[in-house]
Amino acid sequence: MRTKEKYEIYKPKKFLGQNFLVDDNISKKIVNYLDIEKDDNVVEIGPGQGALTKYLSGLTKYYIAVEIDKNIVEALKIKYKDSVGIIHKDFLKLDFEKDLLNLFNKNKKIKVIGNLPYNISSEILFKLFDIQNNLDFAIIMLQKEFALRMIAKPDTKEYGILAVQTQLNSVPKVLFCIPPTAFFPKPKVISSVVKLDFNFQTHEINDKKLLRNIIRSSFGKRRKIMGNSLKDLFSELNINFADINFDFKRRPENVKVEEFVNLSNEIFIQKTINKN
Ligand code: SAM
Repeated sequence: MRTKEKYEIYKPKKFLGQNFLVDDNISKKIVNYLDIEKDDNVVEIGPGQGALTKYLSGLTKYYIAVEIDKNIVEALKIKYKDSVGIIHKDFLKLDFEKDLLNLFNKNKKIKVIGNLPYNISSEILFKLFDIQNNLDFAIIMLQKEFALRMIAKPDTKEYGILAVQTQLNSVPKVLFCIPPTAFFPKPKVISSVVKLDFNFQTHEINDKKLLRNIIRSSFGKRRKIMGNSLKDLFSELNINFADINFDFKRRPENVKVEEFVNLSNEIFIQKTINKN
């Protein structure tokens, strides 16, 4: 049976971002980047027809695949029986502690792998950032433009919330790109495989929620100077711009990740001083 016919049986669902990888060499290459040892913890997001699953199964007993599509889950369970742990769930609704942690080897962090549904790449990424203390690294496939925004540097038009949050929470690296012809159905875009390493925490952050707020407010009005964008937040916190050592005439796209961290830490300290 030709590859396309084989995959047509399942009628890929567009709304679930189902573009299945049909090039075995690329599947093997992605799985190799995970560098699995036999007692490693591995989570796969959206196994689909098993393009990665077939090379992952058997490498470690701590391998869990999370898939939202009931038909796919049933097919995978028949195919892999007990050799792969399959959770039928929306990854975005996964309760990390309850659903996953007790299934895993407590002595190791978790490796994440997935050819992501592109329509919810952001949400999945932010979910990973929320649990990044438990993660070793992630090898994920995303739309190329999205990957470029994740690794963007200041002073470029790609630099925004996604770049700052990605580089705050991980060290990102684009590994290689994949053409549309490697998928069925063919997407309109080129894809990139990205590694996010969660082992290098170089930033001391006093208040993560505050930092998130500052980044969101700053880029919410991208063309405006930071002083304008942060006005509401400052009055809410009862803080004066003059008390903070930062040039608020700057625009967010020119502010480095560590400068956002320093700004947030200063605001946190000032907030604490004002309280006492
Ligand atoms: N890994 C397979 C491959 O490479 O061929 C499938 C990749 S396909 C781009 C994305 C997969 O994620 C689909 O199987 C889809 O059903 C699944 N998916 C979509 N939304 C999901 C969600 N919220 N939680 C878990 N899986 C999801």
